[in-house]
Amino acid sequence: MRKYNDKHIPVLPNEVVEYLLWKDNGIYVDCTAGEGGHTFLIAKKCPNSRVIAIDVDLEVLEIAQKNLKAFHNVILLKASYVDLPVVLKSLGIERVSGILADLGISTYQLKAEGRGFSFNRDEPLDMRMDIQQDTSAHKITNFYSEEKLSKIIFKYGEERFARRIAKQIVKNRPINTTKELVEIIKKALPPSEIRKRKRHFATKTFQAIRIEVNKELKNIEQLLKNAEELLEIGGRLAIISFHSLEDRIVKHFIKNSNNLKHIAGPIKPTQEETKNNPRARSAKLRVAERI
Ligand code: SAM
Repeated sequence: MRKYNDKHIPVLPNEVVEYLLWKDNGIYVDCTAGEGGHTFLIAKKCPNSRVIAIDVDLEVLEIAQKNLKAFHNVILLKASYVDLPVVLKSLGIERVSGILADLGISTYQLKAEGRGFSFNRDEPLDMRMDIQQDTSAHKITNFYSEEKLSKIIFKYGEERFARRIAKQIVKNRPINTTKELVEIIKKALPPSEIRKRKRHFATKTFQAIRIEVNKELKNIEQLLKNAEELLEIGGRLAIISFHSLEDRIVKHFIKNSNNLKHIAGPIKPTQEETKNNPRARSAKLRVAERI
């Protein structure tokens, strides 16, 4: 096990329980189990329901397993929510009562030693949520063309200096560590821009590379299609997103769906919640019902 002394606090816990859990003896899917924070709440609140909790990260699932050992109504599996139809079929389940996805990154991934997600530490460039997959941040920064890198940083990071950053990345190859990448981004940005930014100057580029490594936006589209197909009538879909790119996809999908009705959101955390859990700051929950 990697060195890790933190704990993930589930965001919008009361709101998830209130909107997702409409049926006492249902089947609920937590698509992003992480350390099991939301799964715990669902399993506790609905002891007569079954909870299928999946995650692509084998390491975080080990923590979830420990946190959820008291529950007999939880099935934990290593799988992607992209493959949810296959996962449920293998369990003999056709329809479910609720689907939750808490997008973004878990505290474990950010804080455990050596996962390469954080610009605050010096680690090998990795950023894979699924450590069994091939494509890592190292591959993207060292082998993508300048044009492709620039497009990704612009689109997924909403970084207006994407071209300058991509150029510096290509010029400074090979790049092996997060610290090296941070230095390259620093070199690419005008000093006045670095001073102006409220968040760390590498945030946008790191977000963009992480999204590309884990195919995050493409996966959300598939997740939404899966939810439409797998929810029973009256079933609830609850999605927590952490940036506008994710939220936009969720919002438009629900708006344009003939099978889903928007019932709540965007719900944001209260001031009290963000005080206790700063990670919740940018969270937005949207809830839809299968009609
Ligand atoms: N709700 C969790 C809790 O309270 O402990 C935290 C979830 S964390 C914000 C997001 C999780 O989604 C990460 O553990 C990540 O590995 C997982 N994830 C990302 N993409 C996934 C995918 N395609 N399928 C399943 N899990 C995924």
